[in-house]
Parts: sequence; structure tokens; C-alpha cells
Amino acid sequence: MGKKKREILAITAVLLIAASAGLLFLLNRSKGMALARQEAALELLGTDAICIGDEVIKPVQADAEIKNRIYTVNPGEPGIVRITDMEQSVIFLPDDAVSAEITVFSGEETVFSGSEDDFRSFYPENGRYRLGVQCRVQPTAVTSKGEEFTFEGTEEYIAELEYDVSMKISFESDRIREGSVMTVNASGVRGEVVISAGEVLAPFPLVTDERGYGRGLFSVSYITPPGTYTGFIETREGTSEFSFTIEEEQYTVQHLIISEETQSATIGNSDNRDAYNEMIDKTYYSWYPERFYDDCFTLPVDGEVTTEFGLFRYTNDNPVPTRHAGVDLAEDEGTPVLAAASGYVIAAGYNGVSGNTVVIDHGFGVRTYYFHMAELCVREGEFVEEGIEIGKVGATGYATGPHLHFNLMVHDNSVDPWAAFNGTSGIFGLDLNSSSLP
Ligand SMILES: [Zn+2]
Repeated sequence: MGKKKREILAITAVLLIAASAGLLFLLNRSKGMALARQEAALELLGTDAICIGDEVIKPVQADAEIKNRIYTVNPGEPGIVRITDMEQSVIFLPDDAVSAEITVFSGEETVFSGSEDDFRSFYPENGRYRLGVQCRVQPTAVTSKGEEFTFEGTEEYIAELEYDVSMKISFESDRIREGSVMTVNASGVRGEVVISAGEVLAPFPLVTDERGYGRGLFSVSYITPPGTYTGFIETREGTSEFSFTIEEEQYTVQHLIISEETQSATIGNSDNRDAYNEMIDKTYYSWYPERFYDDCFTLPVDGEVTTEFGLFRYTNDNPVPTRHAGVDLAEDEGTPVLAAASGYVIAAGYNGVSGNTVVIDHGFGVRTYYFHMAELCVREGEFVEEGIEIGKVGATGYATGPHLHFNLMVHDNSVDPWAAFNGTSGIFGLDLNSSSLP
């Protein structure tokens, strides 16, 4: 072997040793980094918690897969959750949650399974349940060297779940003016809840949602005398009573002369009265549980007020007055009559008393009536938007000249329409958002 060859070999050997040392160093370094990652991940595993009502629950187990190895920690014990109000029955997941599967058991039976969003509408009977939450998480950990990385994991939460939700009901006030409306709100409703007040208000059910919140409108007619009355709340557990006071409202007086001819041709004729009753009575007791109206009502005809709402009318010097259930708005024959609010047309046709008539159901027991029109532009069953033309001003039926008789009813009571036009009516007090209910 020549001198030169030996030198080359020696250099190669040195280089090889140097290279392998470098490789070893790199290997150790990456092993060290993997270790730092595992440590950082393990430190983070199981630090999450879910919240239900006032309870904070740690996972009973948390797993993560890092570099093909599964790491597990058991940070917490099963929790105990008592729910007395459906607002508490909401699951808040950790910030790093990607998805969750919620399961509720009653004994061995699965009574709920779904996402945390679905869980919001889970409203079981009162009693004890078991809750399981499987949560997929993507936490971001930081190693001791300040290196950030994200990994995947699962967390399992277990809790005993006790529902003890009782019904609470609240009336806007225990005082109400003649011809007005107030809201009724309830929570913890199970089954149907029916409100009534004898002669003052026919029975009507609260509109209940899937979380047990109930809403309704309590109305008092313009003709019910002031005084203190008893109301009834009927539930599947039984009937309870409440007391309310009707306060007096001031109404105007009118003296009117109407020819015998007009009277006998319209309201004086029993066939006409029967036809009127047949068309109108059926509109009183069924209604849509949705609210189609919002804000203020649109004035259907911007005409002169010739007869006020609630007015005492003495016709042809008869000593017993009749009362005016709506408002008369005089306008030229043929002027468009607009829908005061959106809703379904539940009656559209002619009878000898109210002439060409339209009735619109706006939901929640709120209805509007349009009488004496020259012609109709809508049909029964149609949905109409607020402000569209439903007919034309006329003088059909019991009318002395072209005008629109407009009437607002809530359940079986006629109430002040002006309060609907200026937005102050109790019908606008309905809150369809659960969180503000009792
Ligand atoms: Zn009228």
C-alpha cells in the first residue's frame, strides 16, 4: 500500500466517524424533541372541563395519540349535575373541542344521543339520568423549548344528571284595562297548559316549545265591566286559580239614526244574522301557534274615523246602547284596503251583516276583521303579507256609506286596534326568546 492510499483511507475513516457522530447527535436530538412533545402533551391532557348549569366537570379519561403511541390520563371523577331550570340544561364544551357526542341513559335505556346543539332541546321528565360526553379535541401544547404543536385527543366525561324542573307561570300584571292584552309566560311546562277566565276569556292553550317554555296572550274585552275576577290555569297536575283586576277605559258615545229599511235589510234579518254568525264564530277558537306579525300594524285605510272603537252607540233613540267592537274608517268607494299584518286569510266572503268580509289570523290568537268591502282581492286559505291589498272600500252589509269597519280580536275578545297601530298593544309583548322567561 502506498503512502498516499493510506492517507486517503485515514481521512475517510475520520470523515465516517465524524458523520456517524453527527447522525447520532441528530437522532438523540429528535428523540429528545419527541420526548418534550409527549411531556407537553401529557401535561395538557385532561386539563379540559365541560360546564353544565353551575357544574364544572373534569374528564374521567383523556387519550392522545403521539408518534403511534396512545397516552392516557384519568384526571377526574364522575360529576353530579342538578337541573332546576332549562336554562341550566346546556353543555359548554372546552375551547379545543372539535366535536362531541352526548348520550343520556335512563337505567339501561338510551334516552338521548346527539350533539351539544341537539341537547338544547332535550327536555325529559323529571328524574335521574346518566350523562356521557365523548369529546374530540385538538389541543395546542408548548414544549419546554417553547415549541408549539397541535395534537388530537379524546376526552370522556360522565355525570349523574338530575332534572327537577317545576312549572313557573307569570302574567305581565294582575291589572289589565278593558279592551287590552297582556302576555303570559311559563317555563317548566309539561303537557298542555290552558288559561281561562270564565265569561271574561274563553279557554286557550299556551304555545309551548320543545324546552318546556310556554307563551300566550291574555285578553279582556272592551265590554267587560271593571272589577276583580278569577282566572284558571289548567295543567295535567290540576287546576289553580289567579286573581286579576280589570280597570275602566273611557269610551265615547254616539247617537245614530239609521232607517228602518237599512236595519231590516241587514241586522234586522235573522237569516243575515245566521249567515254572519256562521262566518265569524268559527274564526274565534282555532289559530296558528306561530307569530306572523311584528312591530306596529299597518292602517288598512287611511280614512276619517267616523265611529271609534268601544263607542256606546244609541241607534234611533233606543235607550239601550250597542257597542262598537272596532273602528270605522270612512274613505271613497274603491279605495284599497290593506292587510294590517301578515297572516292566513281564514274567512273571505259575503254575508248580509258585515257585507264582503275578510278575517286574517296573525297567530297566537290575534286576528283582524275587515267589513263592508265593495270587493275582495284574497281567498280563504291564502297567506297574505302585511300591507298587501285584500279588498276595496265599500258599503256592503249593515253600512250607511262607504267605510271600512276594522276589528282586532285576541282569542274571543275585541281589543283596542289603535294600540296595534301605534305599537303599544300587549300583543307585541310576546317574547319568543326563552332566556327572558320565568
Ligand atoms: Zn263599524
